Amino acid sequence: LASKHYNAVIKDVPGAISLEQTDNRTFFLASLDPQTFAFVVDADQALSVPRIVLRSIEEIRYPVDFLGMQVPLNPQLGVAFYPTHGNDANTLIRRAVIAEGSDRARDRGIAYYKSSRDSYSADRLTLVSDLRHAIDHNELTLFLQPKLCLRTRAITGFEALIRWPGREQPVRPDEIIAVAEQTGLIKPLTRWVLKEALEMRGRLLEIGWDAGIAVNISPNNLREPDFAVFVQRLMQSYQIHSGAITFEVTETSMMQDPTNSLRALNALDAAGIPLSIDDFGSGYSSLSYIKQLPAGEIKIDRSLITDIAEREQDRVIVRTTIDMCHSLGYTVVAEGVEDEETLSLLHDMGCDLVQGYFLTRPLPFNEMVDWLGNYNPQALRSRISAS
Ligand code: C2E
Ligand code: CA
Ligand code: CA
Repeated sequence: LASKHYNAVIKDVPGAISLEQTDNRTFFLASLDPQTFAFVVDADQALSVPRIVLRSIEEIRYPVDFLGMQVPLNPQLGVAFYPTHGNDANTLIRRAVIAEGSDRARDRGIAYYKSSRDSYSADRLTLVSDLRHAIDHNELTLFLQPKLCLRTRAITGFEALIRWPGREQPVRPDEIIAVAEQTGLIKPLTRWVLKEALEMRGRLLEIGWDAGIAVNISPNNLREPDFAVFVQRLMQSYQIHSGAITFEVTETSMMQDPTNSLRALNALDAAGIPLSIDDFGSGYSSLSYIKQLPAGEIKIDRSLITDIAEREQDRVIVRTTIDMCHSLGYTVVAEGVEDEETLSLLHDMGCDLVQGYFLTRPLPFNEMVDWLGNYNPQALRSRISAS
């Protein structure tokens, strides 16, 4: 029943290739096992009309009629491309199946094969061992992005963001982190990041910039039994930076293990580490949980900020969020500020700090120092509407 329905849908997908023909029927669907089917599409044809392809593929999600009942099938799709993902049918099928079984396919119904998500692929194994090597040999680096205080127009701090320069095939920061989290490398990586951030703050102090640095912490770090102790020791040997290294943690990541996260964060609080809630508003928020956390700062997610200049509704949400966070006693940071109008709106809404491409993209340490040298609060003052 399901295969008949799927076959009928796939037949109309642009570029669909028939796999078998009998006298009166054409089959587009092959059965891999009783619950898994495969079909082949000519990517050149399909890619010339991507919308039509997606719309026609969506029809496989329609429920099928069985004895008068509408039975939902909820299929998950995995896609592998020839020749990018493999040269032979076996490899392509295996990789499409891996994509089909991924969290992404479960969440969105469809996923493309990605070697960094395939724990068995040669690419991924190389990536993991390269990353281990990079951590051990100081090949990673931190870029800095400034945080601007809207009231004083001063640069009050920076966020440190991981980069992996010099790798032949560039790896995006969130991919570095995802791989590190899946392989246990997040422990040495975060420890390296912390030490590097402390070094950088030392160099900033030397040239007269007394600004804080925020580092991103993964949920897995909070599960390391000795994390708080490690941080405490580290901060003791860098007393001049006491209170100047903030930890950014996303609320969604803490929700995976709320009790232990809370315990770890309280221990870090006792060690004098300021805490910031990252990506606020990007997922389901539990204010009653957040309120228990020893956090002083909330960062409103970029997705809420991006369109406030165009969309009244987004402005209302952001304004309300800022007011609410202020009543709860938090400092509010807006991330992803890309233009002047957004900056000025946030200023009028009483937002405390902003971060984003409008000021600058994250920069390597030396370029950030140059940027700071050229930064002129007066120029900005005239651009922020009268306060
Ligand atoms: P995040 O913590 O939300 O960091 C902000 C991201 O937004 C950064 O991406 C930054 O480059 C980008 N961004 C800043 N301003 C703008 C803007 O105006 N417009 C747009 N479109 N983007 C902006 P990046 O550096 O690619 O990092 C991605 C994510 O990777 C971070 O998201 C963070 O979750 C994670 N990450 C980065 N470095 C580290 C690290 O050292 N440790 C851990 N655990 N995670 C890290
Ligand atoms: Ca962050
Ligand atoms: Ca963020």
